[in-house]
Amino acid sequence: MTNTIHNKPVFFVDSLILNEQSAFVHKRLCGGPTFSAGTACAYSCTYCYVEQIVLKQKAVQDIRKSSGLSFDKIVIRRQNPLQKLADALTRNASSSDAVNLDAESILTAERIKSWNLTGMKGRVPKFHGSQFANTVVFGSPLVDVAATNELAKETVELCEMFLRLTSFDLRLLSKSPLLESIVATELHKRLPDEQAGAKKRVLFGFSTGTFNDTVAEAIEVTAPSPTSRLKALHLLQDNGFRTYGMLCPILPQFDPNIYANEAMKAIRADKCEAI
Ligand code: SF4
Repeated sequence: MTNTIHNKPVFFVDSLILNEQSAFVHKRLCGGPTFSAGTACAYSCTYCYVEQIVLKQKAVQDIRKSSGLSFDKIVIRRQNPLQKLADALTRNASSSDAVNLDAESILTAERIKSWNLTGMKGRVPKFHGSQFANTVVFGSPLVDVAATNELAKETVELCEMFLRLTSFDLRLLSKSPLLESIVATELHKRLPDEQAGAKKRVLFGFSTGTFNDTVAEAIEVTAPSPTSRLKALHLLQDNGFRTYGMLCPILPQFDPNIYANEAMKAIRADKCEAI
């Protein structure tokens, strides 16, 4: 345990970052792969399903037992996420690999140093090439990717690595406007190429089931208001980023048609690639 987020103690576990074949493919949020730099979220939504998914993991059980805290009262992050992702996105080179497609040249010595990576010599990208283009990787199935400045910055580094080492597209989901102000802005600054950069290969979405800030405060507790999420979504749309709508969870409605019409207007459905 090293610090706290939203008054929750933070723990670190030694888990992988990339899941190459996630069941999230059935939700049509990805083409198979997902990534997560955490196991327990910084937010504490009352409807969160994640505990049921990770309940049986020994590391989670150990943390709960030693801390005496319930799952919604802890944050669990993953150790060395950048090294783990670099290992997952590369493999040892073989004699048939193109000589100019090695991980060291793609990442550059500067990035390898700033990301504190080791063991990249003789490695080549595992998911590079037209066969991987348009495959979408979803982040994250377990935590909010931009719940604090620090977590949003971690997401920037992970996404930059994905965009440089693979041909995958990325789909990010958050309840935080930091997804726009830090993640999208910084990724576009680092990868501005209109054809292959952040605006072309990253889809941004905000989880907005209710548009009522008071209702959201009751069930999403520490998460930023839906009003602030919509403002960030509109900013992304106005600035040429790819967006999708995520109406989740939808609460019982007196008139589902009225809700649907309001929701389409709120997320500007015509500017969303998918809903
Ligand atoms: S933001 Fe998502 S992952 Fe985080 S607590 Fe809420 S529902 Fe769970």
